[in-house]
Amino acid sequence: MDCIFCAIANGEIPSKKVYEDDEILAFHDIDPQAPVHVLIIPKQHIKWAYDVNETNSAVVAHIFEKIPEIAKSLGVEDGFRIVNNCGDIAGQSVKHLHFHLMAGRPFGWPAG
Ligand code: 5GP
Ligand code: ZN
Repeated sequence: MDCIFCAIANGEIPSKKVYEDDEILAFHDIDPQAPVHVLIIPKQHIKWAYDVNETNSAVVAHIFEKIPEIAKSLGVEDGFRIVNNCGDIAGQSVKHLHFHLMAGRPFGWPAG
C-alpha cells in the first residue's frame, strides 16, 4: 500500500519526531499552520476516523493518553487544539488516521 504516513512510521521517510513508542508516532507537520504543529499517528494503518471500531480503538485511546505528555514536552500544556479531518470534504489529504496538535496562536471557533 502506498501510504506516506506508513512510510514515516516505518522510517522509510524521515520526520522530525517528538514522541515514539511501539504503537504511535508524533512528528512535526511539514507545512505548519501554527507555531507548534505536530501530527500524532497510530503506526498501524487506519484510513480515517470512520474506520475506528472496537478492535482498533485502543490505539486511539493510547494517543489521547499520551497527548498531555507530548503537549508538555512541547511546552504547550497551557492550551492547544486537537484536530482530526475525516474525508475529503473535511480536508483530509492523507488517508492514514492522524490527529493535529496545534498551539502557539489563538484559534477561532467555528473552525473554517
Ligand atoms: P490532513 O490534511 O490530511 O488533515 O493533514 C495532513 C497533514 O500532513 C498536512 O498538514 C500536511 O502538511 C502533512 N504532511 C503531508 N506530507 C507530509 C510529510 O511528508 N511529512 C510531514 N512531516 N508532514 C506531512
Ligand atoms: Zn498508512
